[in-house]
Amino acid sequence: MLVLVINCGSSSVKYNLIETSEKRDICKGLIERIGAVTSIVKHEPVGKKHVKDTRVISSHTDALQEIMSYLLNSENGIISSPSDIKAVGHRVVHGGEMFKDSVLIDEDVTEAIQQAFDLAPLHNPPNLKGIQAAKEALPDVPHVAVFDTAFHHSLPAHAYLYGIPNRLYRRYKIRKYGFHGTSHYYVSRQYYKLNDKPVNDIKVITCHLGNGASIAAIDGGRSVDTSMGFTPLSGIVMGTRSGDLDPSILFYIMEKEELTLNNLHALLNRHSGLLGLSGYASDMRDLIAEAGKGDRRCQQAIDVFCYKIKQYVGSYIASMNGCDAIIFTAGIGENSPLIRKQSLQNMGYLGIEIDDKLNENAERGSIQKISTDDSKVDVYVVPTNEELVIAIDTAKIAEATAQSPWL
Ligand code: ADP
Repeated sequence: MLVLVINCGSSSVKYNLIETSEKRDICKGLIERIGAVTSIVKHEPVGKKHVKDTRVISSHTDALQEIMSYLLNSENGIISSPSDIKAVGHRVVHGGEMFKDSVLIDEDVTEAIQQAFDLAPLHNPPNLKGIQAAKEALPDVPHVAVFDTAFHHSLPAHAYLYGIPNRLYRRYKIRKYGFHGTSHYYVSRQYYKLNDKPVNDIKVITCHLGNGASIAAIDGGRSVDTSMGFTPLSGIVMGTRSGDLDPSILFYIMEKEELTLNNLHALLNRHSGLLGLSGYASDMRDLIAEAGKGDRRCQQAIDVFCYKIKQYVGSYIASMNGCDAIIFTAGIGENSPLIRKQSLQNMGYLGIEIDDKLNENAERGSIQKISTDDSKVDVYVVPTNEELVIAIDTAKIAEATAQSPWL
């Protein structure tokens, strides 16, 4: 089935056209700076000339119309009619407590996504805009929501409750939700395929290290803990997000710097993390390059990043009473031998040993083992593919819906 996957940010739309029966990307693209004076379009059809363009695109609705015209374009297009697309899958960041699985989007689902605006103010509103715009562009096909939070629905209460009055959980649903669920799910399943053991007996720790970064403990195929929490701000240090903090720091900085709530929000989400620590960049490649030239703060930012990963890995081994494999994925996890090595160094006590040669030479874009044969824990690099998970879920729901109007 040909499925269009849409991932909408506040000023961007990422799209992938995927043939689910062959698990194959047909085309991918990105529109950035929606609403700015000029927007940037990248359209990359497989086997055809890639396009990089600037245009005026003032809304998500216009962006979806642009995407359709690129997909249909006689020169760089990839489909001959909108009806070639059989379903649309949408990444939705926060599903609250309601959604344990992907769902067909109807009025109730739209309302529930809206209700979760408070929980993910940066993500859910643009996700919903994307859904509305895509429904206008492709009104006759099923649209499916795939939630970042859904895979973490299996977290036990002792992992998702915070040490605050229980009334706040009951009234406002303040709890750990966890994010990057489709990625943690995908890479853990890739590891299971390499294994003879039954999934029930396998314990893995997945490290999704991109601009946003999170770690998950997955026991018997189910997520049992993860580093992000109520929002994607907590856990390990990220590109521009602080990760875990002593909550008292917030009152202290607000008072000392006379900050409003909005200022504090921006400080922790956009000016902290690797960028804040280094005072130089949020991009790991830039930090590694500067640290290599002797920049002390860039080196410290890398050291904090790796230390946090190590702490989470250690704590999840304790949570699960063991671990069969640690998996690195996403931009940093897939591409940086240095970060992989530093995050897991001196963990021989727990049976984790990286093979330096395998780590350095790990071929990009494919599954690679990087632990020594003697290591008690396998360490793997597994490229993630969140879009494929979204497309496959969407195709399943679209097929089921075609068979029964009651679903
Ligand atoms: P996003 O969360 O935006 O999807 P990505 O998964 O694309 O992020 O990861 C982006 C991060 O990956 C950036 O910090 C980038 O510097 C880092 N990265 C990409 N390639 C490398 C590399 N070769 N070495 C170190 N870091 C890398």
